[in-house]
Formats: sequence, C-alpha cells, structure tokens
Amino acid sequence: MTGPTATRTPAGEAVAGATDLFHALTGSEPEGVWSAPGRANLIGEHTDYNDGFVLPFAIQHRTAAAARLRGDGRIRVASTFAPEPVEVALADLDALFRAGGRGTGAPSAPTVPEWAAYPLGVAWALRALIPDWAGGTLPGVDIAIASDVPVGAGLSSSAAIEGAAASALNELWGLGLDPVTLAQVGRRAENEAVGAPTGIMDQMASMLGHADAAVFLDCRSLETRSIPLGFAEAGLEVLVIDTGVKHAHSTGGYGERRASCERGAAALGVAALRDVTPADLPRATELLDDVDFRRVRHVVTEDQRVLDTVAALAADGPRAIGDLLVASHASMRDDFEISIPELDTAVDTALAHGAVGARMTGGGFGGAAIALVDHDRVAAVSDAVRAAFSAAGFAEPHLFTVVPSDGPRRDV
Ligand code: ADP
Ligand code: MG
Repeated sequence: MTGPTATRTPAGEAVAGATDLFHALTGSEPEGVWSAPGRANLIGEHTDYNDGFVLPFAIQHRTAAAARLRGDGRIRVASTFAPEPVEVALADLDALFRAGGRGTGAPSAPTVPEWAAYPLGVAWALRALIPDWAGGTLPGVDIAIASDVPVGAGLSSSAAIEGAAASALNELWGLGLDPVTLAQVGRRAENEAVGAPTGIMDQMASMLGHADAAVFLDCRSLETRSIPLGFAEAGLEVLVIDTGVKHAHSTGGYGERRASCERGAAALGVAALRDVTPADLPRATELLDDVDFRRVRHVVTEDQRVLDTVAALAADGPRAIGDLLVASHASMRDDFEISIPELDTAVDTALAHGAVGARMTGGGFGGAAIALVDHDRVAAVSDAVRAAFSAAGFAEPHLFTVVPSDGPRRDV
C-alpha cells in the first residue's frame, strides 16, 4: 500500500493549517485565506475528454491557500505536503512552463518539484490572460497551502489546489475572472505546467459545486446545470472506499484508453464519441476491433447513463439511480477495463450488504469507489468491506463519507 497520504480532518483545519504555515513562512499575517473543494464523480467516467457528459459533486474536503502580496515580483509557494517552499521570479514562469513541463524547456531554465507546478502553473496560466503582463506590473505573492483532500484517491486533490490558488490570485491580483475561466486556468496548469493530460471535469466540479447538488457538465459546450441530489433528505450517504492503491495518470493505461477513443471517433467519422449514440453501436462493431469497440461502447453508454441519472433524480429521486451506478461500474470493469480487484471487491461487498448503488470513481487503476448507502447501514457496509479486504489479503481501505458541498470561497 502506497497511500493515502492526507488526513481526514474537518475542512476548517485546512484553513488553520494554511494560516499556520503562512506564519511560519513569512512571520506575518496572510491578507486572506481562500479554499476550494475536492470532488467525487457520481457518474460519467472517461466521458470528459470525449466531449461528453459528467455528473460530479464538490465534497466537504478542501484545500486552503493563505496568501499575501509582496513587492518584489517573486512568487513563493509552500505546502504542508512538502518540506521546502519553492520561490521563483514571476518573470521566470514562462521559461519554466512554456515548453510544456517543469523546466524541461530551455536548459538554463529553473526547475521545480512536481507539487509546486500546480500553484505556480496556475499563476503562469493566469498571467497568460493578462494583456499587460509584458510590462511586469503584477506584484509578487506568498502562498501557503494545506489540505484535507486525500491525495491520489480519485477525489481530485489536484483540482482543489488549483482552485484554491486560482481563487487567491484572482482576488489578490484584482482580475475578476469568472469560475469557468478559473477552471480553465486550472486545467491549463495541470495539462501544460504539470504535464498531466486530464480533462476539464475536476476543475469545473470544484469551481461550480453547490451544497446538496451535483454539477451536470456538458464537456463540449462547458455549459453546466446544478442538479439537486436530495441524498440527506432521502436518508442516504455517499460512502467513499479508498483502496489506498495509487493511480498514476502517467502510466500507459490512461493514454491507451484515450487513443482507443480517438481511433473510434475517427473510424465512425465524428469529431468525438459524444456524437455517437447507443443506436450507432452495431455499426461500430463492424468498423473497430474488439478492444476499441468495447472502449467506445463504455463511453457511449456512459454518456447515456449520465443523462438517465439526471432524469431519474428529477423524476424519482436518489434511490432511483442505484442501477445506473452499478451498470456504470460493470462497464468500466468489463468494457473499459480500468477497475482493479480491490475496487470490484469494494463495489460487490457494498451491494451485497444493502448499498443502493456503487461504482468505482475517478480515472481507474486504483483510487476509490463510492457507494450510496442508507444512513443506518453505513457502519454495517463499512465493516463488511473491511472484512472482505482482509479476507482477500488487500491493504486496509480508508472509509469515510462525503457530502455534496459548495465550491470555492474566501474563508478569512
Ligand atoms: P488526485 O486524484 O488527488 O487529484 P493527482 O495525481 O491528480 O491525484 O494530483 C495529486 C498531486 O497534486 C499530488 O501528487 C501533488 O503533486 C499535488 N497536490 C495535491 N494536493 C496538494 C497539496 N495540498 N500540496 C501540494 N501539492 C498537492
Ligand atoms: Mg487529479
């Protein structure tokens, strides 16, 4: 077992932790503290980069950024996550990230550790939106970061750190950018500064989340709709079963899935798999090999399941979505082949002990599953999952509930 690495403290402790770290870093008070949430994806997996639909919700776990302007045009970032702060001149960010990676550009350019590329990449991507940057008019800034979002568990600690940094800099630099633009800034940081080829879902979920609601996102138009979930009213909780198995976007599986999707769209003559409906699938069997066909079938049916989930929530409430969650998991396990034995055990055990629905969530190859469980069954399902993991010889999972929560805010 390699994770999880973050503690599950109440969100207020991220704010306190960031403030304490800021004091230790600078000896002064921050000008403000901003925070942004992680997210869980209710349904819609690997549909985002296919221009499709997703239905994530922001969670109560947050990353906080305590920040203050400084006069010398330098940016310094520190995190409770890392032993050393990282400091660079704002004017050097371009050399650092322009070539698409942490200092892989000009040989003379500075390099930074991976974690620092998230907040520094956000500063760099924001700067690209400011026309008079060349005049060097932006003040420098100190940022101290703390988080209670579990890292690498499929709950998007990356979008949380991007959202916290973007919110802080947006206000301190007086940019007045809207949440969708800030989400795009976070994605650019992750894609180009960090070098992780991820879609826009995580940042949109973090930036646009609302309490008791999910974010229905059309990944082509970036239009969103807030979808009431009503979990608490129905007596339901979302239990996260974090397997502790670390996923990595950089390993081959993720890229291979994307390549299959691109081949599928090209063979079917569409811009993206979003443009394929379940009725088109018989034609796809003739044009694609078995593996690519099953990858395409996952994406096409998953898009439909997202639409069906939105409809079922509105018509019949949250208990009506259980079968869609289960079908989503089966599709990821059998067609997209991104599940692992730990995730299958988590899902099967939760269902066997009364969960309304369950599925793996996030990119796959590790991370977490979610189960929709009656409030008074949470303890029994949790015990059963622990026992099943122990019997299978898996590392002990981390179990905790997540609550659909609000997006970014200024805390102090
Ligand atoms: P996740 O599913 O949690 O988003 P990612 O691999 O996308 O997993 O992002 C995790 C990475 O984000 C970490 O390895 C680290 O580089 C960075 N990160 C997340 N939270 C923090 C934090 N609080 N401080 C510093 N870096 C962080
Ligand atoms: Mg991430």
